[in-house]
Amino acid sequence: MTEIAANLQRFWQELEPYGCQLIPVSKTKPNELLLEAYEAGNKVFGENKVQELVGKYEALPKDIKWHFIGHLQRNKVKYLAPFVHLIHAVDSLRLLQTIEKEARKHQRVINCLLQVHIAREESKFGLSDAGLFELIESAPWQELPHVQVVGLMGMATFTNDKQQIRQEFRHLADLRQQLARQELPANVKMQELSMGMSNDYQIALDEGSTMIRIGTAIFGARNCML
Ligand SMILES: *Cc1c(COP(=O)(O)O)cnc(C)c1O
Repeated sequence: MTEIAANLQRFWQELEPYGCQLIPVSKTKPNELLLEAYEAGNKVFGENKVQELVGKYEALPKDIKWHFIGHLQRNKVKYLAPFVHLIHAVDSLRLLQTIEKEARKHQRVINCLLQVHIAREESKFGLSDAGLFELIESAPWQELPHVQVVGLMGMATFTNDKQQIRQEFRHLADLRQQLARQELPANVKMQELSMGMSNDYQIALDEGSTMIRIGTAIFGARNCML
């Protein structure tokens, strides 16, 4: 068994009792390594650059589900719209409207997660709590029939302070719960919670993550600054 296959097996086993899905993050990695993961039985990848994702989509088997996990610029939505499985980091109405427009051209409904800013760091993208509630309450959802929101996504602060990380994940889980109790538009569902990366996924699992996004712990360290 290759090292990547062994890493995947280990994660699948660990996640099974939680009913959590593994999203292997293959950014910066060459197609050979993605194929190795594919041959080990993995058919889902997360990428954070549009051009890189499209190149890999074109080169690799067509039954792969591609998750876009990075910050998405509106002018690039058109490249993903024909095939993307889930966009993890939507944080504005304008982006939702662009996704609607491009999805409609392909007669697809595109699944999205709303990204919430849960970390202490200022640099990360995402909605504030108030912004999240406001977006859900005030977006013209009837005019977005080709968009399906399926849950929330967040990234914890990059820190060794496990309590801090736990608080942040717990907060995201609480937001989902609060929303799930409300009456929501038909194209907003609160099923998924995309949280947890190589260094903090165990905490995320404890706090109810349904999708962890794992790069380094499957594919090894990345050389480039991405
Ligand atoms: C790179 C990346 C990951 C994976 O990070 P690792 O620490 O390598 O597991 C997860 N989520 C997002 C949004 C990323 O950009």
